[in-house]
Amino acid sequence: MMDEVTLPDNQRVILFNKRPDGMPTEDCFLLSEAPVPEIADGEVLVKTHFLSIDPYMRNAMRGGGNYGPLNPGDVMIGRGAGVVVASRHADFKPGDAVQSEFGWREYVALKGDGLRKLPPDLEPLSLSLGVVGQSAATAWVGLRDVAKVQRGETIVVSAAAGAVGSAVGQIGRILGCRVVGIAGGLEKCRHAVEDLGFDTCLDYKAGDLSGQLGKAVPEGIDVYFDNVGGETLDAVLEHVNEEARVAICGQISQYNLARPRPLENIGVLLAKGVMMQGFRIGSRLDRRDQALEELLGWWRDGRLEYRETVSEGFETAPAALLNMLSGGNRGKQVVRVTG
Ligand code: NDP
Repeated sequence: MMDEVTLPDNQRVILFNKRPDGMPTEDCFLLSEAPVPEIADGEVLVKTHFLSIDPYMRNAMRGGGNYGPLNPGDVMIGRGAGVVVASRHADFKPGDAVQSEFGWREYVALKGDGLRKLPPDLEPLSLSLGVVGQSAATAWVGLRDVAKVQRGETIVVSAAAGAVGSAVGQIGRILGCRVVGIAGGLEKCRHAVEDLGFDTCLDYKAGDLSGQLGKAVPEGIDVYFDNVGGETLDAVLEHVNEEARVAICGQISQYNLARPRPLENIGVLLAKGVMMQGFRIGSRLDRRDQALEELLGWWRDGRLEYRETVSEGFETAPAALLNMLSGGNRGKQVVRVTG
């Protein structure tokens, strides 16, 4: 059954250890050991090469909601990309690269039915988690299906130098829009403009974001792709046009707060007929495959730039999550486990 490669008896896993109070700390996680699983008929055994590090993990650690149940003692959740090392499914053979929900473990047994096999030219495999994966698919769905963006419109996106935000800016440019980023710090803003092709990028940490927006988008904002919520969302609402669309993708400025900050400028929605809609990529999987196909084409044509922040070693996953939540990442934050 598992005679393709010699496998160890045990593997490392990382457990969720305790719920955080505010910003998580490394003792919220626990490095542990577990047996390498046997696989049943219809399953494959996959060796983890990369782990995806994502903001929703912070929400899952809170317990409940759409992300749970994640309870202390559980293996930490998360997507990964890896290579099949043993197969009992007709469509998979050792050496095939796949991407799925792995959890923070070095080996994972997965059902072959519905498992996403990666194209052989997708190197490194971490691209399947970011620029040609869930992060960019979120950007694609948010722009096309939620905001229904039109050529010539002005898009503003927050967390512009991150995994989703950098894809929003580039897809917006490909679709013929003017794209304005908001990011933390001059270096991130420089990257957004010079490397990713944003028209301009505003440093919210420099203060007076509303004043900066007034100068940068005198024509007003047609689409706001919100990754951060909070004060930034309120500042953007001061500059939206009639019938603007606000796609609520994330609220990362609020994730470590016990009580979210209330929105102040909600009246703009009524006054200007603005549509504000939240969405989760996990509820729109019917569109994800189409998004990934188009993103793969753009990537092969050299139209999508990307940057990754790669944390080396399985055991660094907790530190990588804390780094991303603190804004230490440029582009997609991943952990290289092997390969
Ligand atoms: P990023 O790669 O953008 O990394 C997170 C970034 O958030 C940091 O680099 C930092 O950038 C910014 N940030 C952190 N804290 C704050 C704060 N207090 N105020 C403002 N910005 C902050 O992560 P992702 O691209 O993976 O995710 C971006 C957003 O999209 C998140 O809100 C996430 O929850 C959401 N998301 C939603 C999905 C959906 O289906 N709806 C799917 C995937 C992601 P900076 O230095 O610029 O502040």
